[in-house]
Amino acid sequence: MLQLSGLEPLHIYPNSNFINIGERTNVAGSKIFLNLIKEGNFEKALDIAREQVDGGSQILDINMDDGLIEGKEAMVTFLRMIASEPDICKIPLMIDSSKWEILEAGLKNVQGKCIVNSISLKGGEHEFVEQAKKIKRYGAATIVMAFDEEGQADSYERRIEICKRSYDILVQEVHFNSEDIIFDPNIFPVATGMQEHRNNAIDFFRATKWIKENLKGAKVSGGVSNVSFSFRGNNTVREAMHSAFLFHAIQNGMDMGIVNPSQLEIYENIEPELLRKVEDVLLNRTEEATEALLDYAETIKGKNSKKEKTIEEWRHFSVEKRLEYALVKGITEFIIEDTEEARQKATKPLDVIEGSLMDGMNRVGELFGSGKMFLPQVVKSARVMKQAVAYLQPFIEESNALHPENSQTETQKIVLATVKGDVHDIGKNIVSVVLSCNNFQIIDLGVMVSSEKIIEAAITEKADAIGLSGLITPSLDEMISVAEEMQHRGLQIPLLIGGATTSRLHTALKINPVYKSAVVHVLDASKSVPVLSQLLSEHKDTFIQNIDLEYQKLREDYLNRNASKEFISIEEARKNKFKIDWETYTISQPKSLEKHIFEEYSLDEIANYIDWTPYFQTWELSGKFPAILEDKIVGEAATNLWEETQLVLNEAIQNHAFNAKAVLQIFKANSTNQDEIEVYNDSNQLLEILQTTRQQSKKSSNQPNISLSDFIKPKSTNGNDYIGMFAVSIFGAESWANQLESEQNDYKAIMVKALADRFAEAFTELLHEKLRKEIWAYQSSENLQNDELIQEKYIGIRPAPGYPACPDHQEKIAIWKILDVENAIGTQLSENLAMLPASSVSGFYFANEHAKYFGVGKINKDQVEEYASRKNISIEIAEKYLRASLNY
Ligand code: SAH
Repeated sequence: MLQLSGLEPLHIYPNSNFINIGERTNVAGSKIFLNLIKEGNFEKALDIAREQVDGGSQILDINMDDGLIEGKEAMVTFLRMIASEPDICKIPLMIDSSKWEILEAGLKNVQGKCIVNSISLKGGEHEFVEQAKKIKRYGAATIVMAFDEEGQADSYERRIEICKRSYDILVQEVHFNSEDIIFDPNIFPVATGMQEHRNNAIDFFRATKWIKENLKGAKVSGGVSNVSFSFRGNNTVREAMHSAFLFHAIQNGMDMGIVNPSQLEIYENIEPELLRKVEDVLLNRTEEATEALLDYAETIKGKNSKKEKTIEEWRHFSVEKRLEYALVKGITEFIIEDTEEARQKATKPLDVIEGSLMDGMNRVGELFGSGKMFLPQVVKSARVMKQAVAYLQPFIEESNALHPENSQTETQKIVLATVKGDVHDIGKNIVSVVLSCNNFQIIDLGVMVSSEKIIEAAITEKADAIGLSGLITPSLDEMISVAEEMQHRGLQIPLLIGGATTSRLHTALKINPVYKSAVVHVLDASKSVPVLSQLLSEHKDTFIQNIDLEYQKLREDYLNRNASKEFISIEEARKNKFKIDWETYTISQPKSLEKHIFEEYSLDEIANYIDWTPYFQTWELSGKFPAILEDKIVGEAATNLWEETQLVLNEAIQNHAFNAKAVLQIFKANSTNQDEIEVYNDSNQLLEILQTTRQQSKKSSNQPNISLSDFIKPKSTNGNDYIGMFAVSIFGAESWANQLESEQNDYKAIMVKALADRFAEAFTELLHEKLRKEIWAYQSSENLQNDELIQEKYIGIRPAPGYPACPDHQEKIAIWKILDVENAIGTQLSENLAMLPASSVSGFYFANEHAKYFGVGKINKDQVEEYASRKNISIEIAEKYLRASLNY
């Protein structure tokens, strides 16, 4: 028997009814509770606790883990207040935190016998034993998570292995009362669309049964709402899932669980068809269970499922037609069996690739070329192709060993690389996939690749062309170096230039002239195929001549246009600065000048801030979200991508696949009369001088020549202003994507990386809101919806180095130094100041109500020279980092 108590005892016998643990007094699970605690409104927070008790909770879970809450203090305060409310503290409490110090503070402040939630072998045996000993001394029971040094238990075997090991240590070594051990064997979501999640519920049921039969005295608990995670927003399905899950879990011996009683439907009242479908999923009873429940869920939502019912007619086609169909539709489900069937029919395995599979890919190429298929579909088709090829590879090798005369193939080879100092590769990876579906062989050298390595690879592999990619400004100069080096080494193969920072103009002006053979700027992935096909065709000479002529003309136009646009000197521009009446302007005093560090920030919360429009752009689908889903032309492709992305999103959230980290702080600051911003510490000592660039093109009357320093109160006036800095990163995308690539799943790998970028931007948006409402608190009553945030309807800006208002990436160096970013969250800067991980954002906060985003535009040599001397760097370095902004 497990005995707990608040003011009153709670006895849990082997045949007791299921115990409900109230979940609403948890800042991670309840926004209302979180806000009350943040406001310090503990009285109101007590009402929530009371409602839970009145609503039938028999134990109350209390959690104060949030980046902006002093967790320990909040826990202690709240527990002490509960202690004087007999109608609440009559029931036992569960002290819930991922931090030991909060758990221990809780243990010191609770009466009766509580439960600690939780400890585990995550941090190793030593820590586990120490914590268990203390819990025992405080006289509490404990939840033990099925987690060890290797990570979360995600199969039946791992669950029982970890629980057994934890149990043995607790009972034999710590002499913990086995009745006081409550295992949480991890409730994970089902119906996620992932094969590996299909047994999540069954594994939990089986592990529960095993624990109850084998680990004498121990109890089983769990967080129930996780299981229905894929159906967020559809309460009917969620409630049915929770009840059905509990029904089976309790039959297998589950003793208690953290639940929201208002989200429980009575098992007997669940509509029979829904119940059957839910149980098919929970018990993994049929192959189609997930699909069936998803379809059914759509009908309850009142909408008709758009998905065409797949009458699997195509499965009756000939094997050649089936392969083509699978490729065009991007279906991997039967690809291995179909490929095998085709292989058995073929004379040699290579014929399968060169026959049916290439026919299918050619069809994909045609449809893509004629605008009937879109990038995400092509990438999906490529996945089918890759899996088929990977399956055939060993057979081909075997056959080559027997018949070496068959082994030479005539595919053209392309070397691809993201240049030195740059880490961005989504675009390059898409190009790689698109080209490989068009029968090019790709040698992808990855990111941060030096010119020597690129050229060596091109020579040894006898490549037919080189493609370079880059996202940040300094990459432009790296590309020039690669082109120069190619010329120097006497290469004569075409050079393709692509990536966000590149342009046709820059290619024409700076790269085309330094390399004698063909240099072509490729606007997007879909253009890479026609460009390369022409460059490598018989008519290549005419094509190259035309390109050269076009670039020649661009250069001439540039020189002429350049002369027609008027520029003013930097002194004149400064006289026409953006003017603010500092005499009357009131500086908002920040509420906190502390450094704020966030780790493992709730991905669920961040997801609400995602701006989806750029995500579709990444996939070359243009249109604003959500209207794009209904678009006449790309709507269907966008909707499919969207639905599949939601599954990956849910998987990321559920598995904590991304670690969202950030650091931010506000500092005292003043501007100087040379476009600088001085940053001071609390005691007014100078920490750093930020250098800004100023618009220099001649403006029409009344229009100012702006620089960011105009938004900061000048030193010559009375008193200081403030400036904030931040760095935000999403960790974990890289390793996940690598794993997927090794499984020939580039489609999902690209989704994961693009999604990580979205999370980084969304987290930046979320933190900016937090800054305005809570940390600087100059807009504490702001209340904007996500679309309003995306439209920048708030006051203040967060310009990022490398973007139009502050084009120089070098200003990141100051942010890194002042915030000690690398130590705080681990984000690094590459030699050319790209951030690692690639999904990162950093910048400055300006709170001034007049501050706005703008573009510095082109600047003249006089400013660059002065800027270089202010910064104490050479003009060459200044030019390298301002390359895209130079007016000369
Ligand atoms: N909602 C978009 C925001 C993209 S802009 C998205 O989710 O992708 C990316 C970042 O650049 C912004 O967060 C902001 O920090 C910065 N930024 C935007 N416009 C800018 C400008 N004109 N100058 C400097 N930085 C800018």
